[in-house]
Amino acid sequence: MSTASTSASAALLDRARRVTPGGVNSPVRAFRGVGGTPRFIASAKGPWMTDVDGNEYVDLICSWGPMILGHAHPDVERAVSEAASKGFSFGTPSENEVALAEEIVRRVEPVEQVRLVSSGTEATMSALRLARGFTGRTKVVKFAGCYHGHVDALLAQAGSGVATFALPDSAGVPESNAHDTIVLPYNDIPALQAAFVEHGDEIACVITEASPGNMGVVPPAEGFTAALRRVTRDHGALLISDEVMTGFRCSQAGWFGLEGPQGDGVPDLFTFGKVMGGGFPAAAFGGRADIMSRLAPDGPVYQAGTLSGNPVATAAGLATLQGCTPDVYGRLEVAARAIAAAASEELDKAGVPHVVQWAGSMFSVFFRDRPVRNYDDAKAQDTEAFGRFFHGMLDQGVHLPPSAYEAWFVSASHDDAAVSKVIDALPGAVRAVTE
Ligand code: PLP
Repeated sequence: MSTASTSASAALLDRARRVTPGGVNSPVRAFRGVGGTPRFIASAKGPWMTDVDGNEYVDLICSWGPMILGHAHPDVERAVSEAASKGFSFGTPSENEVALAEEIVRRVEPVEQVRLVSSGTEATMSALRLARGFTGRTKVVKFAGCYHGHVDALLAQAGSGVATFALPDSAGVPESNAHDTIVLPYNDIPALQAAFVEHGDEIACVITEASPGNMGVVPPAEGFTAALRRVTRDHGALLISDEVMTGFRCSQAGWFGLEGPQGDGVPDLFTFGKVMGGGFPAAAFGGRADIMSRLAPDGPVYQAGTLSGNPVATAAGLATLQGCTPDVYGRLEVAARAIAAAASEELDKAGVPHVVQWAGSMFSVFFRDRPVRNYDDAKAQDTEAFGRFFHGMLDQGVHLPPSAYEAWFVSASHDDAAVSKVIDALPGAVRAVTE
């Protein structure tokens, strides 16, 4: 294994811990799920990241999704510099916001209008308020293992960091708030039907990850999305498809572009983030115009933001979406399939039980011998084996997401050199699991 120094990262972590809880600004970055010292990254270009000790890594985090074109893509850099040269934030409407909204509406057919916000959390929080305002109901249904950001009402049995740290939910969420959240097992149509039989006329909406990626990648089973649509419609509830992770990544129109309308319809509302901000704080929620028109200033549901539609962030998002050509999706697919196939082959050779699951080019490797259909299945994986594998890869210059509950992300810049480096690291990482 490598003898790379991590002393500068360790020193920065010490410094950070004095002024920031855990030394990080988002919990999963702290490496608590895998142990060890998080690497402080100094710069990144294409598929490569360089840490403050000068170690270089192939990046399979891609900022947890946004960097679909690779780091510091020249077109995005140009758009950002140009926008920034004209001012950073106006607090008035500006053209980039219109252009980004048009691009989203053009790509995702059921979305007639969008409202721009600054994070995925804001998008889901606002979509929830809108659904409650539109229906006049209070209860929301979410699925165990789905993460929709750190919205009070949606933290119960959330995936991502909440799963990584084995938290049941979060302290600080009032019981009265969690009381209106019904948490159901994912991919379980009878449980969905039973919840609606009991509470059908109180449920404002069902929110689901379009294809969950926050308990690892767990795509909807055949018929599940159609059932969500049918049951919500039958009971006058809205269906919110959270495409913060899958949006514009799984295809040009996100997971919706792959799955299409299901049963008798499409989701009422969508949430987006990550890719559409190109690495900057931009996110959105949108959907049917008759629902969106209930938002202030046209309607009574209040929602706002000082930096919403920020001209620099929207320039980055627009340049990124415009860069997401069919060729880009082809490249993502090639890189992801090559990495996953090689990982599977090495694990097979060593007799390590695992399954690889997919949503477009988004995938994850579960250290478990059976398919993962829901959060309970995901929790049954061998997270310690993942931790050893993770460090085996990291020591050889490949930076996976530091959690067994996350997707592995590639970018269109993951060329042969980057993919080969990942593949070459696999035998050593698998040895770290078995020895
Ligand atoms: N929804 C999903 C599906 C996500 O994956 C995330 C973040 O990982 C969010 C919402 C929250 O987005 P943000 O971290 O930008 O608040």
